[in-house]
Formats: sequence, C-alpha cells, structure tokens
Amino acid sequence: MGKYRPPKERRFGKGSRRCIRCGTHDAIIQKYGLMLCRRCFREVAPLIGFKKYE
Ligand SMILES: [Zn+2]
Repeated sequence: MGKYRPPKERRFGKGSRRCIRCGTHDAIIQKYGLMLCRRCFREVAPLIGFKKYE
C-alpha cells in the first residue's frame, strides 16, 4: 500500500516569466525590461532601435 502522491504542482521558478508577446516560457529576455522571448526579441528589436540580436 503506497502513499498516494498528488502530482507536484509546478510553479516555474525561473520559468515563471512569459513572453509578453507570444506567451512562451522559452528563453525570456528580461534585459532592458522587455520580457520577450528571444524569438520575439529578434522581431521587435529593429523596431525599437536595437541592433540585430544573433
Ligand atoms: Zn515571444
């Protein structure tokens, strides 16, 4: 008789931030207060005056 373990609720520590543009948790760039994933950052960067982010 094993103890029933409810699935652990995953509260993303570092991953709690989301891209404000597409909502992904992936590779969020917080620099400059952007809160964008790197993909969106690449798209938005030229528009906001950043040089291309490679
Ligand atoms: Zn994004």
